[in-house]
Amino acid sequence: MIETDPETPRLSRVLGRHDEGREGPTVLFLGGIHGNEPAGLAALTRVLRRLGRGGLEYHGRFHALAGNLAALERGQRFLDRDLNRAWEPHRIRDILDGGDPGDRSEDGEQGELIRIFQQALQERGGSFLFVDLHTSSAMGAPFTCLGDTLDNRRLALSVPIPMILGLEECIDGAVLEFFNERGIAGLAIEGGKHDTTEAVDNLEAAIWILLVEAGAIPRDRCDLEPFRETLRRAAGGLPPILQIRERRALLAGDGFVMEPGFESFQLVAGGTRLGRDHEQVYFAPHEAYVLLPLYQGLGEDGYFLATSVHRFWLRISSWFRVLGNTRLLALLPGLRLHPHQKSTLIVRSWVAQGLTLRLFHLLGYRRQRKVDGGMQFTRRWARRENDSLRPRSSRGSS
Ligand SMILES: [Zn+2]
Repeated sequence: MIETDPETPRLSRVLGRHDEGREGPTVLFLGGIHGNEPAGLAALTRVLRRLGRGGLEYHGRFHALAGNLAALERGQRFLDRDLNRAWEPHRIRDILDGGDPGDRSEDGEQGELIRIFQQALQERGGSFLFVDLHTSSAMGAPFTCLGDTLDNRRLALSVPIPMILGLEECIDGAVLEFFNERGIAGLAIEGGKHDTTEAVDNLEAAIWILLVEAGAIPRDRCDLEPFRETLRRAAGGLPPILQIRERRALLAGDGFVMEPGFESFQLVAGGTRLGRDHEQVYFAPHEAYVLLPLYQGLGEDGYFLATSVHRFWLRISSWFRVLGNTRLLALLPGLRLHPHQKSTLIVRSWVAQGLTLRLFHLLGYRRQRKVDGGMQFTRRWARRENDSLRPRSSRGSS
């Protein structure tokens, strides 16, 4: 099931590294953080083999890592807990302080990954890019998901599959958070359905495009057109940018069952019955794309609903971000700065509705809560915006 090197029958954490001694970016790809998703490892193995044949004038360093080794060997999403959770700073400290791997299989796996990540970050000479490779349990188009910074948007849009905004904030503690918190560009790519050759092809195509986009391979050394074509075909004309509007979060024992037959990215009309649990039946509140419908035993999300975002709004939101938006936005009617938190805006109720609310999301204001007379929006990853892909003059200074 897992494509491994014939000389290393057991799967190893480091699938391979590639470095031809030229200055350039560090790129770190992770496959199989979910053990039932080996397609990322197969795609990385193909890329490593091609890099090994030479002739691409590779710049910087390429790391290919395997995620949940114990779960990959059993073809299971995880053994004791989802390894793509618990990447918040306090959990990382706990795991590193723990010394012992702990009594859960995933604690040991996570500790090893953290140490490799930290070492790669320390050794980097230039910019850094992290990419997490996934597949999903339902049929559906591939897509990218990102910590919503301008760098990440630019990278994600270079891969011709839908870019999903707002998915990362629905999932607390995903591995992307580890890098986003450090101001590092990071993307997750869903390649398609588990155990299909299409998913491996899609992930491989995305890897080559990102290597060129990150500056690891000169544009004239790698013909990206066949890879773009593979992805365009897989994306099947879906909107290039989608935003998550709703997540069906699951709790243990609530007995959620997805209605059969949904594919990821299926467009459903408002009122479509999506699933049920012991308490109630769930319907789509408006026309939306269904994402990642749950057809496997393990998981914390039943489904997501997304709607498309016009490039116009994305451009507007980029301008605001470049202009250092919080103080500027506070000049608009109905908006004011939080007295103590400089990346927080307080928005009067009449403004914080409908399209405006979606616009705030696009502007990078993620965390929201009700306060007296309105809503409070706080920017996520407000620090070090736009920093991660800028070449660094010295090594490891942060
Ligand atoms: Zn996954």
